[in-house]
Amino acid sequence: MAIEDKCSLCNEPAVIRGSENGTRLCGSHLVLDLEGRVQKNIAEHCMVSSGDHIALALSGGKDSTALLLFLHHLQPAWHGVKITAITVDEGISGYREETVMAAKNLTEHLGVSHHIHSFSDYFGDDLDTLLKGHEQRACTICGVLRRRVLTEAARKIGATKLATGHNRDDEAQSVLMNVLRGDLARLVQDSSSGSPGSFLPRIKPLLTITEREVVTYLFVRNYCTDLPECPYTVSALRLEIREMLEELESWCPGARDALIRSRDGMRRYASSLARSGALQVCRECGEPCSGEICQVCKILASLRH
Ligand SMILES: [Zn+2]
Ligand SMILES: [Zn+2]
Repeated sequence: MAIEDKCSLCNEPAVIRGSENGTRLCGSHLVLDLEGRVQKNIAEHCMVSSGDHIALALSGGKDSTALLLFLHHLQPAWHGVKITAITVDEGISGYREETVMAAKNLTEHLGVSHHIHSFSDYFGDDLDTLLKGHEQRACTICGVLRRRVLTEAARKIGATKLATGHNRDDEAQSVLMNVLRGDLARLVQDSSSGSPGSFLPRIKPLLTITEREVVTYLFVRNYCTDLPECPYTVSALRLEIREMLEELESWCPGARDALIRSRDGMRRYASSLARSGALQVCRECGEPCSGEICQVCKILASLRH
């Protein structure tokens, strides 16, 4: 074996090359490295406190699967921290059945309690039905409605935090998407802290982990399953942005990190300006929102016309 194919820390074959310093890691060293980084993220941003009940958004896809594996591994070191996985079944035929099953199998295997909530229970119809004639807005609509189900489901079980599997690539994509849409409000909105009696604090422990690292981690730990792609993502702007960012990163290394840092800077600036602006509640449903009517109610009204 050529030396460049070996792990930088031992003699085992490398499975991944670090993007920043070129360190090559074997399977076991990658697992240790990622577990350490996730733990560090959580500690640095005080994401978990003793006694927390974490509602973990488990779609059954790769990011949320990795997130559950990491948190389940770290859980014994925390005092009285409980984890409940929540899966939202949007009702997307030919896609959701398999991922819901994957989520079920994983939680049974790990012995984590698991709740499944469907769009039909919350909004009267499944996503396929709600979307008829509005397919081009699928991801926006689905994202807003899914967040509402997750928040309510987490509240019902008395959760104190909502954990999602967003990785560094997702985060950079969201920043660029909001910039390209000129959506400053969404760009600077920070859901990490929550506010008493309103938003549930959201935590993203995989924020510094790349998509490639997540996939390699699952592969090494034997949790790599071939799941179908969501049929609606083919039309998504996110896919274009993702390719664009990959190209940008190849000739401008660190571009994704820089985007996220810029966003964080803007958030700090915006929150210092907006301390006085109290959060309002939606006229229709009473949920906290930034205008008169929340996004969920706006979307539901637009789908019914
Ligand atoms: Zn090694
Ligand atoms: Zn509302």
